Amino acid sequence: MYIMVCNKKVPVILKSDEDMEGAYGMFQTGDECIWIRSNLELKHRRKTVSHEAFHAVLHFTGHSYLFDKLNYFDVEESLVRAFEFGLGDHLKFPPLVEKWVSGKEIKQ
Ligand SMILES: [Zn+2]
Repeated sequence: MYIMVCNKKVPVILKSDEDMEGAYGMFQTGDECIWIRSNLELKHRRKTVSHEAFHAVLHFTGHSYLFDKLNYFDVEESLVRAFEFGLGDHLKFPPLVEKWVSGKEIKQ
């Protein structure tokens, strides 16, 4: 499954607890894909995919690079959390991701 971010198809890959090391989600800058903990509680799913999508926006627009260069990691996280708070429950995704964030069974 995938979402569209900045006109790019970004794979959304469900990962085990072990792979996620306690995190709900991660945007992988190298592979430009999103990892999400597969057993994430329903109430966190949409917000977590949105959160990682916002990281992806900052990556594709060059802002992540800028924050890295300035060692402003917490500025990026803080901005992303603000967007997640304001918009995280309201983003709509392509059908397969919508199914998963709505708690329906999917086959990847
Ligand atoms: Zn984050």
